[in-house]
Amino acid sequence: MITLDDAVARLTKGDVVALPTETVYGLAGLALNIETVKKIFTIKGRPATNPLIVHTSSLEKAEELCEINDWANKIASQFWPGPISMVLPKKDIVPNIVTAGNETVAIRVPQHPVFLEILKKLEQPLAAPSANPSNRTSPTEAKHIKELFEENSPPTVDGGKAEVGLESTVIDLSAGTPTILRPGMITRTELANCLGMDVGTLKSKTQYKQVGKDTQSSAPSPGMQPIHYAPKTPLNLYHSVGEFWDSQNFDTGDVIIVSEEKIAEEIRAKGLPDSTYLSADGCPHEIAQNLYSTLIEQDAQKANRMHLIFSGASTGVNWAILDRLRRAART
Ligand code: AMP
Ligand code: MG
Repeated sequence: MITLDDAVARLTKGDVVALPTETVYGLAGLALNIETVKKIFTIKGRPATNPLIVHTSSLEKAEELCEINDWANKIASQFWPGPISMVLPKKDIVPNIVTAGNETVAIRVPQHPVFLEILKKLEQPLAAPSANPSNRTSPTEAKHIKELFEENSPPTVDGGKAEVGLESTVIDLSAGTPTILRPGMITRTELANCLGMDVGTLKSKTQYKQVGKDTQSSAPSPGMQPIHYAPKTPLNLYHSVGEFWDSQNFDTGDVIIVSEEKIAEEIRAKGLPDSTYLSADGCPHEIAQNLYSTLIEQDAQKANRMHLIFSGASTGVNWAILDRLRRAART
């Protein structure tokens, strides 16, 4: 672990460090330094086609990097600093490597006091994708970074457990109508109310397969089913205890995670082993906050399989949770 001042010194030199944000921990480096940005892609093993989000300390600083329009002004005044990134036309100063060659850049002013203070001290923008190897579960606590990267762990500032626990909402405001590219804690309804108009969503091109018994035959075809946010242990997703029970997928030693305590009781009533619940009463914010830490902790048990039962409907914050769960699940 390193101190905030040490992080500032390392970042100034062009090094990459892991920093706390309110969403998940970020792998941060100077966004305008091409060599640093290359290091971020290398450490994560991230494909060059996946653009990075750039973080600034204020809307004024963001304006140095992109064209701010009326929608962006409205969203920034209501939600920044906070867990929402806006995709806007980029200015020339932003290197192409950051945006994966796109003419747009994703920008966010984060809320975490440590990250904000570092941005203010640096007076330079930071690119910071989630601090996990590409496609793995994002870290929400400093200790997860060591678990995920092992001996290749970047120096990390410990800022406690991430309050939100899910990556930022990403909204494209660069052309056409505002469109949510990635759901998050700031919901579609909140954004529609803020802008005074309906907000579109990017429908996944992928059809997620129903839970199947044979993980081999239902393995995703490359490029067809996006695997992301994934634990190493295969994860099966169900929407009710009945669906889980009917699948007859459970084997002794498998791990069971459920969204709320009452589902854990139903599981127990069926004579199955104890499960871990993400929230006592099914509160979406609490589920979001505990989701990745639970996945990372249960992954460390090296069970043959993890089963996750999430009963919430796909609206509001639950939409963001289900989006991550579908991508984390292998079946
Ligand atoms: P992460 O850095 O892991 O939180 O992921 C950042 C995500 O933001 C990317 O995977 C994209 O989905 C999205 N993103 C970043 N920059 C852009 C951009 N210029 N245009 C569209 N989406 C973007
Ligand atoms: Mg990520």
